Amino acid sequence: MTDDVLPALRARAREYADTLRATALDLDRDPSLAGTVLDGALPWRQLVGLPAAYNADPLRIAGRPVLLDSAVEQVTVLEELARADAGAVLALPGPSMSGFVISELADDDQADRYWQVVADGPTWTFFGMTEPAHGSDPNSMGTTLRPDGDRLLLTGTKRYVGNGARARIGVVFARRNAGPLGVVAVLVDTGRPGFTGVPLSTLGLRGLQLSELRMTDLPIDPADVLGRHRSATRQGMWAATRTFNRYRPVVSCLALGVAQAGYDYLTTARRRFRADERHQLDDWAQRLAGTRALVLAAARAADRNPADGTLASAAKIRATRLAEEVTTTAARLLGPGARWEHPLLDKLVRDARAFEFMEGTGNIQRLTLAQGYLQGRLGDARAA
Ligand SMILES: Cc1cc2nc3c(=O)[nH]c(=O)nc-3n(C[C@H](O)[C@H](O)[C@H](O)COP(=O)(O)OP(=O)(O)OC[C@H]3O[C@@H](n4cnc5c(N)ncnc54)[C@H](O)[C@@H]3O)c2cc1C
Repeated sequence: MTDDVLPALRARAREYADTLRATALDLDRDPSLAGTVLDGALPWRQLVGLPAAYNADPLRIAGRPVLLDSAVEQVTVLEELARADAGAVLALPGPSMSGFVISELADDDQADRYWQVVADGPTWTFFGMTEPAHGSDPNSMGTTLRPDGDRLLLTGTKRYVGNGARARIGVVFARRNAGPLGVVAVLVDTGRPGFTGVPLSTLGLRGLQLSELRMTDLPIDPADVLGRHRSATRQGMWAATRTFNRYRPVVSCLALGVAQAGYDYLTTARRRFRADERHQLDDWAQRLAGTRALVLAAARAADRNPADGTLASAAKIRATRLAEEVTTTAARLLGPGARWEHPLLDKLVRDARAFEFMEGTGNIQRLTLAQGYLQGRLGDARAA
């Protein structure tokens, strides 16, 4: 796709955003409404990046099909949708993060089975990495995949997994052998015995329905180990890192959408501002535009080279910080009781806080950014 299509793509996304705005508080109150609220109201198949072979009716801009399978297209559309409801964007059925793992690792049969299920109807998927006792650190991962005759058994618990309790299929990372190369990604059908998905109670991005996944001796066919045809250095953690790098511009665009929504809310709800407050609004307007440019550059870099997450980390730091600052300050500028009197703003404040942890905390992003800078990758990334 050439850049001249992006404004029309953004304008189309704005039309869909109006639909999400109307249901934002309902979905926040009851995340289980995702199916009824989003299916039918939005052409989700056109928005979630289904591959051409599984997408008979793609989005069309100026008569040309747009598959939304590049980070550049995704950040353009999803920022606008997140400006209405970031929780709803994350609650959309479809591949989400697990789709990246499939495109990195799956053989033809695995990919076909996954995409058939996902394109069949409104189907949620998940990416199961984080654990209650070990967080998202792969070195101490406790979930195991061990042989049992001619099959494998998956055992462990994953927590804070988006859409996990309502998914039909997903990817779980598990340890098959010691060391970082011993982690593999497994395609998991949630209908199998030994799988339980439980929704967690959360404050922000409630539409995403963060879940805990409990797996006890869940039978896995060896054909469901993703990337089994590849060398150990090109399996689980290799694909996870590329998936994080590829998805981080998307998380950044969602945080940016929430920041923009906070700004929009404040400037609509209050018309008169003191001189110092106007100065603050001008500063935000510039930082919103600057962060948008950074997110787009990060998306371009991710499309060009998913092995490098340098610019994506910079974008996530900037967008997350801005979302938290704009939403909390907007609540203060609307006076005492603002979060009670303005439920949508209250939701934005809560949603903004979730981005700090999603996809790695700010400290981890700063470490990635510093390493990229010291290794001279920032210049390459900016040129993307
Ligand atoms: C909205 C949301 C959606 C999510 N979706 C998913 C999902 O779909 N699938 C999934 O598997 N997980 C998911 N998660 C979990 C998320 O990916 C992890 O919580 C996140 O990566 C942080 O990892 P952690 O919990 O191990 O925390 P840690 O990385 O251990 O961080 C804990 C604290 O220690 C600090 N810290 C850690 N290491 C360092 C260091 N080296 N230097 C300085 N400070 C450090 C951090 O900044 C933080 O303050 C989601 C979380 C949220 C909030």
